Amino acid sequence: MPVTPAADVRPVEAVPDGVSPGVLGPAVDALRRQDPELAEILVAEVQRQADGLQLIAAENFTSPAVLTALGSPLANKYAEGYPGARHHGGCELVDMAERIAVDRATALFGAEHANVQAHSGSSAVLAAYAALLRPGDTVLAMGLPHGGHLTHGSPANFSGRWFEFIGYGVDAESGLIDYEQIRTLARTHRPKAIVCGSISYPRHPDYAAFREIADDVGAYLIADAAHPIGLVAGGAAPSPVPHADVVCATTHKVLRGPRGGLLLCGADLAERIDRAVFPFTQGGAQMHTIAAKAVAFGEAATPGFTAYAHRVVANARVLAAALADEGLAVTTGGTDTHLVIADPTPLGLDARSARGRLAAAGLVLDTCALPHGDVRGLRLGTAAVTTQGMGEAEMARIAALFKAALREDGGGGGEHAVRADVRDLVRRFPPYPPSATLR
Ligand SMILES: *Cc1c(COP(=O)(O)O)cnc(C)c1O
Repeated sequence: MPVTPAADVRPVEAVPDGVSPGVLGPAVDALRRQDPELAEILVAEVQRQADGLQLIAAENFTSPAVLTALGSPLANKYAEGYPGARHHGGCELVDMAERIAVDRATALFGAEHANVQAHSGSSAVLAAYAALLRPGDTVLAMGLPHGGHLTHGSPANFSGRWFEFIGYGVDAESGLIDYEQIRTLARTHRPKAIVCGSISYPRHPDYAAFREIADDVGAYLIADAAHPIGLVAGGAAPSPVPHADVVCATTHKVLRGPRGGLLLCGADLAERIDRAVFPFTQGGAQMHTIAAKAVAFGEAATPGFTAYAHRVVANARVLAAALADEGLAVTTGGTDTHLVIADPTPLGLDARSARGRLAAAGLVLDTCALPHGDVRGLRLGTAAVTTQGMGEAEMARIAALFKAALREDGGGGGEHAVRADVRDLVRRFPPYPPSATLR
């Protein structure tokens, strides 16, 4: 089947200046000879990522070192079980990789135990529920329209089918979590677990308040820190680890590692969590991903990453303020994290058409539910652009490009002007400079 790239993706041969597919390494030439169809897609995707503003809040650019571990023959290894207790032979070396990943994760987050095998953030949440709950149990979590994740009780997800989810929300005026409502709901419904964590809440949860409410009703506290865990690693957000019974996370968002999940807990729950991951909900561990997680945890422990995490937040604050200045309604009035949620309604646009206009101009982001009414909002984040080296001046520029893109209906010639301006900006900040090739 021929590859038909989207209109704004350039043909593979015409690699624009400053957009190097070099991060794919020399192996891509061999792949081109064997399977040009797939090689073209890989190269075109490298270009697509470098050729626009990647503002999807959950995305980032992993380092060449992480990509090298991901593309390594550790991918060949079967390793069911845990280091020292595998169901397969030949695991001596991957055992070392997993032990390093676990040690680095526990040190990085000050946790007694880490499980690094969860295949994704959703698998980590599934394992936390499997360890602590039985089907039919009641769970209190942020309602989906207010920012809960699918695994927090969506009827389309196992969580909503196997558990009784009660949703809490945010205050209509302030957009902030209403802790009194949570306390009242907890006392009324006596949940077995309370989940804190969201896909779109731009402020820090008050983990101590959640802990207190959970203790009040004898519930477990599960923190789903998929989004902020990278900020936690860099000291730019409070840690849920001292407060929650189990912390679930992803390794690929602000944390900038490979696509995958992570669980942190105390020694008391370590065995239950491990068994909930394997053999209860997963099979063989993905050793290449676990090695890549170890590399990412190593990177996250450096002063450079601490500075990065703080810049992510500073950038998001500037971007949120600039978007508010341009007339978008920013939820909670700003942000403490990498997340900015903005309603374009005041500009006379709904979120879906706004996202379309922005995409046409090369600004890639998501829409998300807004807490009240059925309007959707725009959700963006600064993790990826900050990895590229952009700072506060570029955030102001992005907000201006944002406004200009929203003004274009796509029919006029102006659309191309914004697209060209976006290209000019991103060319100065290549996510993978030519020198970045490792493999
Ligand atoms: C991203 C996210 C997840 C799921 O992560 P996947 O790796 O996509 O499964 C779960 N919970 C929250 C709060 C998230 O933001």
